[in-house]
Amino acid sequence: MIEVVEPATAQVMAEIPRAGVEETDTAVAAAKAAYPGWRAVKPGDRAAMLLRISEGVAARLEELARLEARNAGKPISDARGEIGMVAECFRYYAGAPERNLGQQIPVAGGVDVTFREPLGVVGLITPWNFPLVIASWKVAPALAAGNTVVLKPAELTPLTAVELERIALEAGLPEGVLNVIPGPGSVAGSRLVEHPDVAKIAFTGSTEVGRRIAAAAAQTIKRVTLELGGKSANVIFADADLDAAAAAAPAAMFGNAGQDCCARSRILVERAGLDDLLAALERAVTSIVVGDPLAEETEMGPLISADQREAVRSYVPEDAPVAIRGSAPDGPGFWFAPTVLSPVSNSDRAATEEIFGPVACVIPFADEAEAVAIANDTIYGLSGSVWTRDGAKALRVARAIETGVVSINSNSSVRVTTPFGGFKQSGVGRELGPDALEHYTDVKNVFYSTEG
Ligand code: NAD
Repeated sequence: MIEVVEPATAQVMAEIPRAGVEETDTAVAAAKAAYPGWRAVKPGDRAAMLLRISEGVAARLEELARLEARNAGKPISDARGEIGMVAECFRYYAGAPERNLGQQIPVAGGVDVTFREPLGVVGLITPWNFPLVIASWKVAPALAAGNTVVLKPAELTPLTAVELERIALEAGLPEGVLNVIPGPGSVAGSRLVEHPDVAKIAFTGSTEVGRRIAAAAAQTIKRVTLELGGKSANVIFADADLDAAAAAAPAAMFGNAGQDCCARSRILVERAGLDDLLAALERAVTSIVVGDPLAEETEMGPLISADQREAVRSYVPEDAPVAIRGSAPDGPGFWFAPTVLSPVSNSDRAATEEIFGPVACVIPFADEAEAVAIANDTIYGLSGSVWTRDGAKALRVARAIETGVVSINSNSSVRVTTPFGGFKQSGVGRELGPDALEHYTDVKNVFYSTEG
C-alpha cells in the first residue's frame, strides 16, 4: 500500500494500493486491448466524451480542490484554480478530434494526403507539485488524438488522479482507455518506459529523471516528451514599474511554496534600481500569509515532504546572505519561511541549481548585455520575465533569453491555449495549445495513383 501523507500535518491521510511491475503490465495490456475500439470512435463522439469529463471535473471542483490542497499542501485558492484549469483543458481538447487535419500535397500521377495517426498506448508520468493539472495537460490531448493511456502519478500525490479515472468512466469513457497506476517511479514508472507495447512517454519531472527516461526510452525508440526543471530569470530593469515588479515577484518565486518548474527564482535587477526593488520586495515578502492550506487567506503552504525541506534548507546555510525572510508556522508539517538571498553571484550553488522551495536569489546586473548573459548562463531554459517600460528593449531581451516561455511586464507562464515547454535541459516537446496534439500523433503519408 502507499501511505499518502498530508504535508501540513505530517499525518497519513489515505492508503491506496501500490502498483508494481505486474499492475503496470496489466494496465498496458488493458490500454492495448482498448486502443482499436477507441481510435474507431467517431470524432464527434470522442469530443462529446471529453466534454463530459470536463463537466464531471467542474461538477466536483470543490471536492477535488480540497483533496489536492490537502495532499499537495497548496493553498485552497490555488487548488481551485488548478482544478478549474483541468476542466478547461478537457474542454479545449474536446475541440481537437474533429479538427485533426492532414494535408493534401500536389504530386504527379495521383493524389497525396497526410493523416495524423494516433500512436497507440501512451505512458504519462507526472510529478507531485501540480498533480492533476499536469496530468490533464497530457491525458486530454492524448485521448483527443485517439490514443489510450496509462497514467502514473507521483506516489506522494496520487489521489486526484485516481478520482479522474472514476470521473472518466462515469463520463462514458470505455474501460481500458484511461488506466491510472499509482506506484513508485523506479518500479511502475521505469516498467512503463521500457514496456515494448508503450509507444510514447510524456514525462514531467526533474531533469535528472528525465535524462534516465530519455536513455531508457531509446531502447524501444519511443517518442518522448520531457517537461523538466527550471531556474528561470526575472529580469527587472531600473526603468520598469518597480512597484509592480516587486508586487508580482513573490507569487512568481514562492507560489506553490517555490515548488514550481516556472519559479522565477533568479531575480536579476539592474543596479540602479536595486535598493528600491529590495525595499518593495521586503514589504511584499514579509506580508505573505503562510499556513493551513485549507484556510481561505493562505497564500503559501508547507513543502511536500520532510526530505524536500531538508534539501531546501541546504541552500540556506548559516552564512547565507539572507536579505529578507518571511514567516512560517511552527509545529508539525513541513514548513519553510519564504527567503530571499541577496546579493548572489550567478555561479553560487543557490543560483545554479533548481532549489524547488521558497528560496530566491537577487543577482544585480549593470546593463542589457550583462542581463541577457546572466539569464542564459544556466543549463535550464523553461520560463522567465522581462520588466521594463522600453518596448523595444523588452522585445529584444525576450527574444535573446534562451527559454521556451517568456512574459513581458508579467510573470504568467501557462495558459491552456498556448504552447508550454522548455529549451535546453528544461525539456523536449511542447504541451498545451495547438502544439500538444502533434506530440500525440505521427504523420502518415498516403499516395493514391489516379493513372489508369
Ligand atoms: P521526479 O523526477 O522525481 O518524479 C517525477 C515522476 O517521475 C514521478 O511520478 C516519479 O515517480 C517518476 N519517476 C521517478 N523515477 C523514475 C524512473 N526511473 N522511471 C520512470 N519514472 C520515474 O520529479 P518530482 O520531484 O516529482 O517533481 C519535481 C520536478 O518536476 C522538478 O524538477 C520540476 O522542475 C519538475 N517539473 C517540471 C515541469 C515542467 O512542465 N517543465 C512542471 C512541474 C514540475
